[in-house]
Amino acid sequence: MSDFPTSARVVIIGGGAVGVSSLYHLAKAGWTDCLLLEKNELTAGSTWHAAGNVPTFSSSWSIMNMQRYSAELYRRLGAEVDYPMNYHVTGSVRLAHTKERLQEFQRVVGMGRYQGMDLKILTPDEVKEVYPFLETHDLTGALHDPYDGDIDPAQLTQALAKGARQMGARIERFCPVDGVEWTGTEWIISTPKGDVRAEYVVNAAGYYAREVGRMFGREVPMMVMSHQYMLFDTIPELEAWSKDVGHKLPLLRDVDSSYYLRQEKNGFNLGPYERNCKAHWISKDDPFPQDFSFQLFPDDLERLEWHIADAMARVPLLEKAPLTKVINGPIPYAPDGNPLIGPMPGVPNAFEACVFTFGICQAGGAGKVLAEWITEGATEWDMWSCDPRRFTGFEDEDYCIQKGMEVYGHEYGIHFPHHAWPAARGKKLSAVHERTKALGAVYGAYNGWERALWYARPGDDTSEAGTQTWDREGPWFAAVKAECEAVRDGVGVLDLPGFSRFELEGPGAADWLSRQITGKLPAVGRMGLAYFADDKGRIVTEMSVVRREEEAFTLITAALAQSHDGEWLKRHLAEGLTLRDRTEDFTCLIVTGPKSRDLLAGLTGADLSAKWLSVQPAAVAGQDCALFRVSFAGELGWEIHATPARMPAIYDAVIAAGAKPFGMFALNSLRVEKGYRAWKGDLSTDYTVLQGGLERFVDWSKPAFRGKAALEAEKQRGVAKRFCTLVIEAGEQDPPYMSTIWHGGKVVGELTSGYYGHRVGAVIGLGMLRADLNVPGVKVEVEIFGTLYPATVQADQPLWDAKNERIRA
Ligand SMILES: Cc1cc2nc3c(=O)[nH]c(=O)nc-3n(C[C@H](O)[C@H](O)[C@H](O)COP(=O)(O)OP(=O)(O)OC[C@H]3O[C@@H](n4cnc5c(N)ncnc54)[C@H](O)[C@@H]3O)c2cc1C
Repeated sequence: MSDFPTSARVVIIGGGAVGVSSLYHLAKAGWTDCLLLEKNELTAGSTWHAAGNVPTFSSSWSIMNMQRYSAELYRRLGAEVDYPMNYHVTGSVRLAHTKERLQEFQRVVGMGRYQGMDLKILTPDEVKEVYPFLETHDLTGALHDPYDGDIDPAQLTQALAKGARQMGARIERFCPVDGVEWTGTEWIISTPKGDVRAEYVVNAAGYYAREVGRMFGREVPMMVMSHQYMLFDTIPELEAWSKDVGHKLPLLRDVDSSYYLRQEKNGFNLGPYERNCKAHWISKDDPFPQDFSFQLFPDDLERLEWHIADAMARVPLLEKAPLTKVINGPIPYAPDGNPLIGPMPGVPNAFEACVFTFGICQAGGAGKVLAEWITEGATEWDMWSCDPRRFTGFEDEDYCIQKGMEVYGHEYGIHFPHHAWPAARGKKLSAVHERTKALGAVYGAYNGWERALWYARPGDDTSEAGTQTWDREGPWFAAVKAECEAVRDGVGVLDLPGFSRFELEGPGAADWLSRQITGKLPAVGRMGLAYFADDKGRIVTEMSVVRREEEAFTLITAALAQSHDGEWLKRHLAEGLTLRDRTEDFTCLIVTGPKSRDLLAGLTGADLSAKWLSVQPAAVAGQDCALFRVSFAGELGWEIHATPARMPAIYDAVIAAGAKPFGMFALNSLRVEKGYRAWKGDLSTDYTVLQGGLERFVDWSKPAFRGKAALEAEKQRGVAKRFCTLVIEAGEQDPPYMSTIWHGGKVVGELTSGYYGHRVGAVIGLGMLRADLNVPGVKVEVEIFGTLYPATVQADQPLWDAKNERIRA
């Protein structure tokens, strides 16, 4: 007891694969004064019973990065720390039953290639060559991933622990954390063995993360599922085949049937993700256990019958094997199925690395990311997909359970661009929701807010099945076209609830804000776009800054950015300034189109000749509001900001005056034509402000702003790649995120947005291109689902209304 450490720079709570990897990576970064506290033995949570599959496949760029890094680390880790491990790189085949699934694979092949991985599409006959026991008659193809495999999760954790200890980090087992306290300068972490003082704390408590989070006053958005796999005994034929060829079968994932099948010794491991899945510990008669170390749930094979039968039909050899064991263990799910890695919202010097559903294959990458968050305050790759701040606090238990079960049941589901997942909807409704619904709105959820995606006309197909396509044209297409044309020729109205909104005030507010953004502040009564950079000059966020008074500002930002941007502002806020989150207090309509002035003139006495980017208090239809002369659609227009109570009357008047409602699909089309960037697509920490083509928002003459030194150095060096607009002669699909740009047989950039512009009648790509090729007229190619399509680089100006005459009219 006497050598129990009483202080550490970082304390990690939880000794599963993820916590231990975080410790290892902190030590690797030179932070060796770190301590991991585990309530039981290492791996006692989900780690000990995990199947240990290590795929690199992901349709998310950042998660693929993380998994690729893990696989690379695991290949060298055993030798590096002298801890031999069972890590079999068997490769995998992922089967496609449909054209759409094959397209998903083709996209991932392109992303993988860009990350240096050689994934391949196989024909059904080629699959049979690598997996001879397979029924292929109904397949459209498969994806071969040569890097896939499986690892012993306990050995992986022990190897990482050994490496961390060798570098000087410490691990205390059988040491539960039972409380934490922030003194204002440091954390006191209490355990039965004594208190530990620490600068930083990490919640890496796996499925216990919500319990640990509550010690910090934080409600971690998560739920727990039970997940099973079945082990089948030796099959002589498989044993003989393996002996003959000298290796195991590749891991099989029949994603359209929702299971994986892995050769385990000379038998099989079958792991389904079933639709009729089961949430645990959600009711009073099934309470969350104080301790579930090294325990399992009872077998529940009934739920898996369909998958077992399907797997036996796919690989008939499986029928010959006796089932020997079932593992049914707890697995945590966040509402979108991704883990939480990064700053703990609302809590100083605290981080999360928890709620992993694929914590074995992601542990390596997650440890790297978490260590970067702590030691550098930022990560190499943009990790928004896993950032705890993507949840903003509305995610109650019911939401977490419904979403967790939806994600689990569709673990291998395809994420189509026009599809909206249906579970746990209607959490936040706009003040005019019933009105937009009556007008035919088809909704999607944005930070819980229901926003119209498009407005269906009588007879339009609004089914979920209608959105199961990668194609540009679907049931929404004609309606969206008409919506865009109304905005182009007349007036459109978009109900836009949920804009995140902060009010900043106090003496010195202007000076402080000016040091946070790269550009100039607007004058009183005006607004402007502002970019926030990190110390490396990378794009943290974009906000509309409204200057109400000399020292009073309203900052408006994306719905999803509420927690992220609020935290960023608070973290850097100077003493004496006040910052208030007013998100819930106001809502917004966009009224835009060449006839919007005429329409509003009938509803308000406000000065509608006030210039572009002006802001004024007004009354519209007798209701107090503010008019912002701006339009993300790129036409003459105003944003009307009002309290939710006042908005229905304004909306009714705008509709009665003839405005046509339009939705988010139309807005996306309209903004892409203007080259307006979207946050966490085109704008992310993967790019600097200069790479983002935002130099016109940089005021070099300011004495200081965050990121200035890095941006100056980059400018002097020359910007290697830069924001581009392409017109693409695409086929039937628009290019998805991270479609690669080719030139002379090489990848020279990537797209961050791709959509059809109805006003210009072309497929438009926004992205990043090698600077020497980013010259108007240069011909490049864009890879869309495995096919290269010709594209032309455009001038650095909007494709629609290049001189901004329409918005300034
Ligand atoms: C049946 C099954 C199969 C799976 N197969 C795979 C797979 O093939 N590939 C894959 O990538 N993933 C798989 N997973 C998921 C994987 O098991 C988890 O994602 C992973 O183990 C999570 O690791 P972790 O370190 O985040 O959490 P855990 O392993 O759960 O570790 C958390 C630790 O925190 C400790 N702890 C909790 N509270 C406290 C406290 N107050 N004080 C101190 N310590 C505390 C716990 O004792 C525990 O050891 C599978 C899961 C299941 C259920």
